[in-house]
Amino acid sequence: MIAPIFAANWKMNNGPTTAREFMLSFLSLYPRQNDRTIIFFPPALSFHTVAASLGERHDILLGVQNVHWEDQGAFTGELSVPIARDAGARLVLVGHSERRHVFGETDDECARKCAAVERGGLTPMLCVGETLEQRESGDAEATVKRQLRAGLSRMTQLMQRPIAVAYEPVWAIGTGKNATPDDATTMHEAIRDELENLCGDRARTTSILYGGSVNPGNAPQLIAAPEVDGLLVGGASLDPGAWLAIARA
Ligand code: PEP
Repeated sequence: MIAPIFAANWKMNNGPTTAREFMLSFLSLYPRQNDRTIIFFPPALSFHTVAASLGERHDILLGVQNVHWEDQGAFTGELSVPIARDAGARLVLVGHSERRHVFGETDDECARKCAAVERGGLTPMLCVGETLEQRESGDAEATVKRQLRAGLSRMTQLMQRPIAVAYEPVWAIGTGKNATPDDATTMHEAIRDELENLCGDRARTTSILYGGSVNPGNAPQLIAAPEVDGLLVGGASLDPGAWLAIARA
């Protein structure tokens, strides 16, 4: 069995001051747990503060919300995998719905980013998910599988290196309307099948997280659903009480 993952995506929230206060409070109330993994994806400028506040808490991992696919160079405003690794990141979110739909990120850009993350020795958490229109027209599974195949297509060590996948239906992100545990299970099964085609046995140990309007009320049912290996949480991860309850789900 895969140890469940509880990941907080702070998006463009929590500057260094708030991040420090949040972490001090969270760490004092959340002792080390061996049966689960906690991950924070803070905004880049708060990353150092969060990393410093963790001290010896190696049970909690950090990731960045986005990277460029090049390792260095004239890309003002961007962040590379080597910079993220140097700062202490272990994971990188790739293809988050807001990157795809607000910033127009394509499947091929996601593929380049996943390849850069692999090259740099970090773990990509590839986000996939259908829009409401795609779900209503019966294209949800095909969309998600296409995003998965495309996103992983430039990686060369899929059989050896860990990856994580987050199923985040676009219609559920930040809307207060979560997928039901049954719907999440159905899509996670489809994702795992597709992963089996792409990376064989590795699929069975690949964490597939659900994300989209997770809150303390629905987290226990979602994390208990078959095939759901973790939760990726946006809005509710900004509220210290709500996040603590989810992390303990
Ligand atoms: C997210 O940003 O990954 C997310 C799932 O957001 P929310 O929990 O707010 O729906």
